[in-house]
Amino acid sequence: MSHSATTRIQEQIGDPVSDAPPVGRDKLEEIFQDIQADMRYDHELNGCLNCGICTATCPAAHYYDFSPREIVQLLWTENLEGIYDAMQEKIWSCAQCYTCAARCPFSNSPGGLIMLMRETAIKHGMESAKNVLRPFSRVMLKLISTGNQLSPDMITPDGFADWGPNVAKVDAPLELLRQAIPMPTLHTTKTAWEVNLKTSVELYTIWEETGVLDSLETIDENLFDVIQDIMDEKRDDYEDWLDDQDDD
Ligand code: SF4
Ligand code: SF4
Repeated sequence: MSHSATTRIQEQIGDPVSDAPPVGRDKLEEIFQDIQADMRYDHELNGCLNCGICTATCPAAHYYDFSPREIVQLLWTENLEGIYDAMQEKIWSCAQCYTCAARCPFSNSPGGLIMLMRETAIKHGMESAKNVLRPFSRVMLKLISTGNQLSPDMITPDGFADWGPNVAKVDAPLELLRQAIPMPTLHTTKTAWEVNLKTSVELYTIWEETGVLDSLETIDENLFDVIQDIMDEKRDDYEDWLDDQDDD
């Protein structure tokens, strides 16, 4: 049997009857170099005693097959296969609470290192990143297009079933209740607060300049296209508004 042509499953998990690793050495090195090249890397990894204090204080380690000590050891020993393997699932268990960083006797930040690994997973378009972020596409659309993470009209009984009996409270007349808030900029339901055109345009520039939109394109091209359309429209509206000011 030839292993030169791989199926989609083999591309993800490797060919179980082949000795060849699922990802070549060059790719593993490229991924590690991307993690290491970030200017935060040297601040967040200063050595590792393998003492396990980070794991003992990590809330995610109590609930998942996950250990910040293990992740730090993989990076510290430059275990390229292990790093790649951890990026397929384990790094997505971290809650980014940074308790580990506060406790590590070496002043490491395991949570910060995990963030670098996540960013690299997104940059490389890994399936694990796409799978983790897919359920958040609605929130990402709201956040990138308005700067608001959650708006009142997103709080629906279907979306928050885990609220139990309290979910009945979200059936309230939102539009009316929002009018009762003393600050007029909060009389909104589609966004948590009023976002003016200039702020939106500035926000889009930040997303562009910081590479957020490039990352988004890597993991969700459809969402990227939708946001590009919204951006173009708002920029046109802002230009029109500026022209109107000049005419007055
Ligand atoms: S990262 Fe810090 S706390 Fe965690 S095992 Fe290494 S030295 Fe210990
Ligand atoms: S930042 Fe992540 S690894 Fe560190 S303690 Fe919190 S959940 Fe655990």
